[in-house]
Amino acid sequence: MRVIARSDDLINQAVLSSTPLDTIRALDDISDTICQAYDTAEFCRNVHSCPEWQEAATQACIVLGAQVEKLNTNESLYGALVRALDCHEQTAAHSAPASEYEQRPGLLTAEALRVGRSLRHDMEKAGIHLPHDKRSRLTELVGQERCLGMAIGQNLTDVSKLGHVDLDINGEGGVLLQSRMNSLAPSRSGRRVSLGSHALSGLLQWEHSAKNRQKAYVAGYCSPRENLALLEQLLGARQEMAALVGARSYAHHNLRDATLAGSPEAVHSFLLDLAAAIQPKVEEEVELLRRYKAKHLGKAVADVQLDAWDRLYYMAMAKAEEYPLDQLEVAAYFHLQHCIDGFGQLLKTLMGVSLTKVPLAPGEAWADNIQKLTLVHEDEGPLGTIYLDLQPRRGKVAGASHFTLRCGRRLVDGSYQAPIVAVVCSFAVSSGGLLSPDQAQTLFHEFGHALHSLLSRTHFQHHSGTRGPMDLMEVPSHVTEHFARSPHSLRAFMHHHISGRPMPAPLVQRLRASQRLFEAINLQQQVVDALIDQRLHGPRSMGGASSSDIVSEVMQEHSVFPFVPGTFPQARFHHLVGYGATYYSYLYAQALSSAIWQQHFANGQINRSSGDHIRRTMLQCGSAREPAHYVHGMLGDSHLVPVNGGFKPEISSLLKDLGLE
Ligand SMILES: [Zn+2]
Repeated sequence: MRVIARSDDLINQAVLSSTPLDTIRALDDISDTICQAYDTAEFCRNVHSCPEWQEAATQACIVLGAQVEKLNTNESLYGALVRALDCHEQTAAHSAPASEYEQRPGLLTAEALRVGRSLRHDMEKAGIHLPHDKRSRLTELVGQERCLGMAIGQNLTDVSKLGHVDLDINGEGGVLLQSRMNSLAPSRSGRRVSLGSHALSGLLQWEHSAKNRQKAYVAGYCSPRENLALLEQLLGARQEMAALVGARSYAHHNLRDATLAGSPEAVHSFLLDLAAAIQPKVEEEVELLRRYKAKHLGKAVADVQLDAWDRLYYMAMAKAEEYPLDQLEVAAYFHLQHCIDGFGQLLKTLMGVSLTKVPLAPGEAWADNIQKLTLVHEDEGPLGTIYLDLQPRRGKVAGASHFTLRCGRRLVDGSYQAPIVAVVCSFAVSSGGLLSPDQAQTLFHEFGHALHSLLSRTHFQHHSGTRGPMDLMEVPSHVTEHFARSPHSLRAFMHHHISGRPMPAPLVQRLRASQRLFEAINLQQQVVDALIDQRLHGPRSMGGASSSDIVSEVMQEHSVFPFVPGTFPQARFHHLVGYGATYYSYLYAQALSSAIWQQHFANGQINRSSGDHIRRTMLQCGSAREPAHYVHGMLGDSHLVPVNGGFKPEISSLLKDLGLE
């Protein structure tokens, strides 16, 4: 394979480089060569419409994955990297500080230094600095971790493992269930419903009969049973990996050096602050749910308690009655193409950047209905390319994602390698191209990731766009989500798909009020999930509490909805695999994006000066700055609280968004 041969050539260049900066450049070249091939293969594996392409891409991923492992354990490469960093340290000790991109003999630029340190961190994570026996055990554990993670994921897509429930359809729930037949049809056979995630949440939301909801909840959260043992093995492997590199726990290992939080202690402190601050609002919302349940059952509020299977059902009932919305009337303002055009207008207003549609070359598209757009700045010209693949298709990855196909970086001749990305969603076409407001927010979220990659102008690809610390990577996408729900932005950028008129102000207000109802309960659920992720990956003694003990303890302590004995919801919590102690990142991003929104865009400040500020401080620098400097650049000095050598974000803006000040 050409990529492997080229990366082998580049290894020699890196080892023989004469200056520290040349070494880092050669390492970044290797990384760019492998990543362009690996990212494209990963993309094809997930979205290509042709099974043969998907299969070939899977094989390519395996070969390239092995090459990455080989690079991370290449001792000559590691030696060259350590020499480059040492040479820089010695020279820097005897010279005046250099500015950001100033080049001096023997010294690295600030960005190159961060790239070098981050590469060293990655190689040491793979155990390159350890004695041989420990290193080979670590390699073994990394392999085990990957296989266990894949097995857990596969069980979650295998309907036969997700449990089923035999419903009583003659009782009070029967009528409602009949009316939802179409949605459940693929999962339903007679009285039996297979509990895929869509069917399970559908039943918990729509089914009138509490007995049926209870049956569905218990069966759903007692599956996939196999995942319980696999998860324990995964956590055990991670704990041993951490011990081998001298960390107290996997959470300590994973957060050290490369995140804003820096340590699980900062994360815990943040989560507990947030849990306490939202509690009054959570109780208010729970009271409303109890009133609905009491009314529904014809009982006094004092005689009613909420069960775990009541949450989605009474939330849906209360929303429909408190803020009745005609879903079709609302969706008419969220036509898919109008959302894309609205995002284009937003970019023009904020940054003088246009989204321009360009024709696809023959053979360029991997499926039907692919759009290709370029981002063109009014003075700077083309900045990057974005492909949109937004409709569902058999064999395509579920959910919404952003894929980087080529990272930006400065080339030797001084030109810039323009980034290429793809946004992939599966919005059902049966709705005539009309999205729900939630789907529009999802689209804007993925556009935020795409912008982060496309507008990034780092010198090295290693820190381009979204390739940054997990707990900062979600910040730009959470900021762009605000534009898809703020009343001012909705009226300015979203228009009726037939009349072209903006959404009437009363409708915008009702929609916003409906979205805000139960925000605190939903946020509490995220806090609970993040705490479970932290505790499962935190220090654990051999033969100590099981994952179910920990989940039950966290829920009893922090959730208003009781833990149901015998269930094990962690078996369905797939983010435990991919995030491993960093699931809190979504909450960090919410706190920081609320602060950015309020400081730069609230009160209608959607203009060029706020847009240019955000482009410069949030998007252009990718993740080339130290995490705390990055936040200071966007928000000034007062938004981070130091904890244990790392940071937690201040939560006052998030509380203000929730109406809690
Ligand atoms: Zn995201």
